[in-house]
Amino acid sequence: MGKLLFWLVLVALAMLAMKLVAIGQRRREAARDEAGVPGAQATSPRASGKAQRAGEPGGEMMVRCEQCGVFLPASDAFVDGGHHYCDPAHRDAHRARQHRR
Ligand SMILES: [Zn+2]
Repeated sequence: MGKLLFWLVLVALAMLAMKLVAIGQRRREAARDEAGVPGAQATSPRASGKAQRAGEPGGEMMVRCEQCGVFLPASDAFVDGGHHYCDPAHRDAHRARQHRR
């Protein structure tokens, strides 16, 4: 009898976990739909905005600032000669340091 109860609890927990995952997924999809739905307007200006949208896990490449070593999304980084920087000032500082060598 105790074994049956154990399995019932296990199944209930599994179902609860699956439900939580499904809710989380639906919420994420709803947020995505909300951002993209106003479809009456032209979609082309929105398409360019979508590429810049950060915060999507796994979709954004992280790069390292050559000057201070901080990590930031590639879309937020300033790129110069294959190097990434968190700030134009850091790009200039790093460039000046390299020229001095
Ligand atoms: Zn920096």
